[in-house]
Amino acid sequence: MSSSLKHVGHEMARRWFLSVLVFLVSCIAVAQDQNLSPPPRDEKTLQDKLLAKPATELKRQLSPAQVGEVRVIYLLPSDVKQRAKFRRAAADAIQNLQRWYGIQLAGSTFKLHTPVVETFRTSHPAEWYAKNPNGQDRTLWFWNNATTDGFSKTGGAFDDPRFRWVFYIDAEPDADQVVGGANGVALLPRNDVLGILGLQTDPVCRWVGGLGHELGHAFGLDNPLDCQTGKVDTSAPQCQSLMFLGYAKYCGTFLTPEHKTELEQSPFFSPQVAKAGGWKCSN
Ligand SMILES: [Zn+2]
Repeated sequence: MSSSLKHVGHEMARRWFLSVLVFLVSCIAVAQDQNLSPPPRDEKTLQDKLLAKPATELKRQLSPAQVGEVRVIYLLPSDVKQRAKFRRAAADAIQNLQRWYGIQLAGSTFKLHTPVVETFRTSHPAEWYAKNPNGQDRTLWFWNNATTDGFSKTGGAFDDPRFRWVFYIDAEPDADQVVGGANGVALLPRNDVLGILGLQTDPVCRWVGGLGHELGHAFGLDNPLDCQTGKVDTSAPQCQSLMFLGYAKYCGTFLTPEHKTELEQSPFFSPQVAKAGGWKCSN
């Protein structure tokens, strides 16, 4: 758990550094000395419980002319103050990922909605998401409550043929409750909201990588099976990809050939001219 940002001890200086200069920092330079974290907590459980439809199956449901969009939603529980810098930070993150996926796929990437990040105030306080009984399996309550509220605000759905949904919710799940990506949705809790804002110990790029990983699941990608089952050591090349440990070293990571093939077939991927700007990621 090391970070080049620890050298800036003073809190004010740290915040200034994060908010102003983080966009100039090379992800690779930041990530080089970073210890690898395990894949997102309890994600395996989510993957087991919610089986995503393969991209090829979704493609059959769409006419060739349709190109879906990624929509990033900032869900604000009724008792949480809006974080002024979040929309900009999340927009930078998803645009950086749009470019990164485009580099991996020779110019083909996902399309973003306008506005890139949309904010919705929900009618429930933050604690409700973890505690409100919603289904027999309490480890899914947070996932069920947050996605239900997200869909009711946006008109979205699981495996939505029009959109892949990213919900950032400013609320905390209980320790055993699952978050992550499945069924066309990526759900990221308060830890990730703070991470994208540079308010966590890990560098912002780790949190952008985390978003990219869960978005990968929303596109129908699985963690590489050999790495997941322990058939190969985690030092194997495919286990350093975005969909396993590589998210922690973003943007110094990659998509496996299998994942590239899957995304090339996805109705959410097409040649896009990614916007310039955002922060520099020298990959
Ligand atoms: Zn995963």
